[in-house]
Amino acid sequence: MSSYSSKSAGYRGRFAPSPTGPLHFGSLVAAVGSYLQAHVHNGKWLVRIEDLDPPREQKGAASHIIQTLEGYGFEWDEEISYQSQRYELYQNALEQLIDNNDCFACECSRKKIVSHTESLGISPHIYPGICRNRSVSRFTSDAVRVKVLNRHISFTDLLQGDQRVGLTDEVGDFVIRRADGLYAYQLAVTVDDATQGITEVVRGSDLLSSTPHQYYLQQLLNYPHPDYLHLPLVINQAGEKLSKQSYARAIEIEGAALNLVQALQFLGQNPGDELSRATVKDVWEWAFENWQTGSIPPHSRNMLESLHE
Ligand SMILES: [Zn+2]
Repeated sequence: MSSYSSKSAGYRGRFAPSPTGPLHFGSLVAAVGSYLQAHVHNGKWLVRIEDLDPPREQKGAASHIIQTLEGYGFEWDEEISYQSQRYELYQNALEQLIDNNDCFACECSRKKIVSHTESLGISPHIYPGICRNRSVSRFTSDAVRVKVLNRHISFTDLLQGDQRVGLTDEVGDFVIRRADGLYAYQLAVTVDDATQGITEVVRGSDLLSSTPHQYYLQQLLNYPHPDYLHLPLVINQAGEKLSKQSYARAIEIEGAALNLVQALQFLGQNPGDELSRATVKDVWEWAFENWQTGSIPPHSRNMLESLHE
């Protein structure tokens, strides 16, 4: 544990977009929230590109995201990190879990898992333990799952409140390295947050359900737990999360100041009319002075609702 920075070393936050498309308003909200949290704590704010899954990525998206962040006046500390350049760290963590007998090799197909869970009458999303007693070597080419023991994960989200999840019933043995050789998101994020000394994770509440996985891996790998603050999601009129997959509109640099004001409003801040013709710099100056974590509403809603509150 001593090799990772502790909270006393100062606040460290991050924004971690996947380069699957350009930034949209939903990702802007997450960027603004994490940036201002770092700022009010006089902390560092890191940008990490989560390019872990090449088939899902869009060519040029990472540099487009970075240009957009620049155009919106974000200033990050340290060099931008890329998950695609950090495989060695993920492999080391995987080997540590293998050496500690915390995982197993699994070659179950989706079909096999579904028929097994059907026969047991349990959810097909929970791995039914078929390969659990198999051993695993560092050189396996099968998927690797972490063993989830019968325990609960409890943590208090700074915005969403107390969380308690039964790992066995609600999560199950989850994949940390896929059969195609790619490291799973849960493992990579856990390793990155720890090795980058992140003290507070501020992100969209769609990732609240991933937090127990990450919390459990932190326990197994002897990492400190960061604090978590899951922001409300921007949803569309149909109640769906704005995402690259739902073809949310990319945000343009031309409308930066107005979009920033709207992101602040969405996060429950009250910039008022004084920013109606502001520049990007004015908006940030206002936000640095006036950001109130306690004003962020926890619930997800659409943009129109947030403007009429
Ligand atoms: Zn299996």
